Amino acid sequence: MNHLEEYRRVVSDPSDYARQLQKTSGKKIIGYTCSYTPEEVIMAAGAHPLRLFGTKQNISLADSHLQSYCCSIVRGILEEGLSGRVDYLDGMVFPHTCDSMQRLSDIWRMNIPFGFHLDITLPVKLDTVSAKDYMIDVLKKFRDDLGRKLNVEISDEALQKAITTTNAIRQSIRAIYDIRNLYPQLMPGDDLYNIVRASMIMDRDRLAVMLAETAAELKERAAGAKPADMKRIMLAGGMCNQPDVYAMIEDAGGGIVWDDFCTGARYFTGLIDTGRDPLAGIGERLLNRVVCPAKHADLDGRARHIIGLVKEKNARGVIFLLFKFCDPHAFDYPYLKERLDEAGIPLMIAEVDDSLPAGGQLRTRFEAFLEML
Ligand code: SF4
Ligand code: SF4
Repeated sequence: MNHLEEYRRVVSDPSDYARQLQKTSGKKIIGYTCSYTPEEVIMAAGAHPLRLFGTKQNISLADSHLQSYCCSIVRGILEEGLSGRVDYLDGMVFPHTCDSMQRLSDIWRMNIPFGFHLDITLPVKLDTVSAKDYMIDVLKKFRDDLGRKLNVEISDEALQKAITTTNAIRQSIRAIYDIRNLYPQLMPGDDLYNIVRASMIMDRDRLAVMLAETAAELKERAAGAKPADMKRIMLAGGMCNQPDVYAMIEDAGGGIVWDDFCTGARYFTGLIDTGRDPLAGIGERLLNRVVCPAKHADLDGRARHIIGLVKEKNARGVIFLLFKFCDPHAFDYPYLKERLDEAGIPLMIAEVDDSLPAGGQLRTRFEAFLEML
């Protein structure tokens, strides 16, 4: 299929891609750390949003600032900054989510000499009466702060244009997920992983075109396809930084039909209403999107969401990938397990960490879980 190689190449070396983009387009590159970042505001400023996911290199420099019991994503992002490997960044944006991300923001501000630093202090509780107004105020402040740093005016028209682009991107990724949900054999899971991840790295205008083409090609392939005999699995957790996991599950006879990662379905879920004030629309999507456990809203919402997805996507079980030392998701897991047990949905948990290769032990556990289904 067209474009798959390009997504893969970009994902294998995001910094190389970003440096090239900076050189050829002249765009400022703005790093960010979490899917609660309003990318549209960065795009409307004429800049390029680039999500950082951690590092593939050894973590050593970050150890003098963070305890080893901090998750490898946060330690990895700091390592990239301290090593200078991301010194092309013109600025870095930190939405306030989990404690580790908040501390990363402080350490970055005090220790990284390149680029500007901005915090986005999002509401912690997302479903209170005041959360909506607060969210809009936060977004307005971010628009002003970013405009000042980049010396540009961020107009409503530019915001609407950015919203149209991100809506198109989200619709195309959803279309790809929907087809794969019916026929997971048509596209290996690691290609899907690369597509979503590339969507947070690549130039969004070009990406919107590419993704529409990828979705159309997959749709063509699906014409006449027959459902495959695979054990339908849903993945859940925070982020997924382990593409190997997809192949391991598929080799064991599983088909990954959906996920609930912030580097997956949570990234594209929910479109922004275009017929209203753009910041209000962006804020509403962030408030209404299925909640990440680093935020608070509707105590039972996440369990209902996962159970609903399992039923809707006809999954036979859930594999929960838990990042080592990720407190928000570790605290969330027992209650999710209780609710999934009550609903009779088989669930397995696998602890993952960027510094550990996803090895044989994990493969055996996936095989045993799939065997049991
Ligand atoms: S899991 Fe939640 S806090 Fe962590 S990066 Fe994703 S959205 Fe942000
Ligand atoms: S939500 Fe978890 S995995 Fe994500 S940055 Fe925070 S502690 Fe790390």
